[in-house]
Amino acid sequence: MIYVVGLGPGKKDQMTKRALDTLDKCDVIIGYKAYIDLIKDCYDDKKELVSSPMKGETSRCHMALERALNGDTVAIVSSGDPGVYGMAGIMLEIAQGKTEVEIVPGMTAACTAAAILGAPLMHDFAIISLSDLLTPWELIEKRLTLAGEADFIVCLYNPASHGRPDHLRKAVEILLQSKSPETPAGWVKNAGRDGEEYGVTTLDKIADEPINMFTTVIIGNSTTKIQNGKMLTPRGYKI
Ligand code: SAH
Repeated sequence: MIYVVGLGPGKKDQMTKRALDTLDKCDVIIGYKAYIDLIKDCYDDKKELVSSPMKGETSRCHMALERALNGDTVAIVSSGDPGVYGMAGIMLEIAQGKTEVEIVPGMTAACTAAAILGAPLMHDFAIISLSDLLTPWELIEKRLTLAGEADFIVCLYNPASHGRPDHLRKAVEILLQSKSPETPAGWVKNAGRDGEEYGVTTLDKIADEPINMFTTVIIGNSTTKIQNGKMLTPRGYKI
């Protein structure tokens, strides 16, 4: 049996009870090193923890399958939600029905970040990852263009990394073709973890903020405003 478990942002108090109960009943917990580090303190002496390097997604899943077929109850962990750019899809692809796989959801970074920034996601929104490791950059540009034209609130995952420092700037240029430069834009780094930081600014200035790969960026729609330092997208109620 394999459980693909979403850890939420990382601290125990933001994990679901279902995720905690699931990890409790597993023999082995497998994950990317940074995620295993997040839960290490709770499980170190009780469970076998296997951390694997970044980009080791497929080998992690093969290992999980092998252990499950040998009779172990296995957890494979993802930060946030495992079904949002996480391990759920690749685990199902690799398991191919050879063992039971259950997905245990967790709070995705967009929701954790939104709560810190105020209430920016009160209307239709799109999450777009700026990582072109598995998605052609041209397709990412097309999605940015169309999400901007449709006046979606846009959440950006993977807004920057060492290999791709200019992706955020390019994304902002595209969004500025349809969104006002004054559109409220916020960022949250290490949401729900040690070292949490955030800022609220406008679309034309967001690329100058200290944004790295542990950051989620949220850009408002045409009605989003900044009120008392927080982002707020009115749902439309008469007050
Ligand atoms: N499965 C994860 C997303 C993985 S993609 C989830 O559902 O949250 C990785 C991207 O998610 C990062 O580049 C960053 O943009 C965002 N992210 C993940 N954890 C974060 C956190 N604690 N704070 C801010 N952004 C985070």
